[in-house]
Amino acid sequence: MTTPEFLDNIDSQLEWQRDLYKHLHQHPELSLDEHETAERIGSELTGLGLDVKRIGNTGRVTVIENGDGPTVLARADIDALPVTEDTGLDYASTVDGVMHACGHDMHATALLGAARLLNENRNSCSGTYIALFQPAEENAAGAKAMIDDGLTTAIPKPDVALAQHVMPMPAGRIFTASGPVMSAGDSVKITVFGRGAHGSMPHLSVDPVVLAASIVLRLQTIVSRETEPGEFAVVTVGASNAGSKSNIIPDRAELLLNVRTYDTAVRQRVIDSIERIVRGECEAAGSPKEPTFEYFDQFPLTDNSEAVNDTVTEALTDYFGAEVVQEATPATASEDFSELPNTFGIPYAYWFVGSFDAEKYRAAEEAGTVLTDVPANHSPFFAPEIDPALEIATKAQVVGALAYLGG
Ligand code: ZN
Ligand code: ZN
Repeated sequence: MTTPEFLDNIDSQLEWQRDLYKHLHQHPELSLDEHETAERIGSELTGLGLDVKRIGNTGRVTVIENGDGPTVLARADIDALPVTEDTGLDYASTVDGVMHACGHDMHATALLGAARLLNENRNSCSGTYIALFQPAEENAAGAKAMIDDGLTTAIPKPDVALAQHVMPMPAGRIFTASGPVMSAGDSVKITVFGRGAHGSMPHLSVDPVVLAASIVLRLQTIVSRETEPGEFAVVTVGASNAGSKSNIIPDRAELLLNVRTYDTAVRQRVIDSIERIVRGECEAAGSPKEPTFEYFDQFPLTDNSEAVNDTVTEALTDYFGAEVVQEATPATASEDFSELPNTFGIPYAYWFVGSFDAEKYRAAEEAGTVLTDVPANHSPFFAPEIDPALEIATKAQVVGALAYLGG
């Protein structure tokens, strides 16, 4: 691939993007409620002379057909979070209790920029570019919703899919890796049953508080005793709720668990173990009723294709230089992006864009320490540096696409 000259100077386009980014940041909308965001994205695309397909209520897609060649699908998520912004930025959220605390405003703005650049420089590429703006990543509902709302028949079948995420990593760098880069995530609500009684008469009860406590402890052995050292699994009990008063033994307890894994076999084993331990503890306690398991917020594994990651990494390294493009370590966060390529049966690559105080990272690196005081995604202080993150994220989308469409 030859270096695309049209990327040398995108300053005037970046002005448009900065304004757009700040606007989206000031007007965040929660998952599946991204109506104004989707309208704005649609009107920007229309303004660029591009057709807009509406998928469901808040999904938007544009297909840029440009002769023979492969079809590349690039995806950005567009939803925000129920977080009260505390960044102090002059373009902070204007919506009480809602914030773009995961940088999806940056993803959407970068993808709009990439679509504009590729559309305006059609002579530098050949093939089809699909820019897809996906709602509701945060609750793992958006990719599935777009598929249910007819995505696969609304667009040509892509050959490859690309996506990226801004991360608390040094600004000015891009991080790529093949294989699992983000974990599968599963949440489960477990209800166990006891027999309620007066707090002074425990012999008449089956105490679900003691039962739940025993389950919480025993669950810790899934990772520490059942998972092979070196294999990755996280089992977190995020909530444990039972009872309302000191002198009443309640009749049920509820546990909310979160599971993260990098391997589908490990994932299944962990889930089987959770159910086995809960059933076993219920049996041991003399629980009068079978426990129930309700799974929700289930994120698939993000497992980068080696071939696609190699192709994209090589193109990014050619363009940005080896000091910018580095090897990523897998993140324990999760994503629903892979639902899209998995549905089409196509390979994909997902990479990270550093977006925070590069100086701070450099100082920490020199001191041999690990930086821990950078606000992570979902923090009320999450504030990616527009420059250079927006330019790098935009160019990364273009360069990734041109690795296939550049001829
Ligand atoms: Zn997020
Ligand atoms: Zn995110």
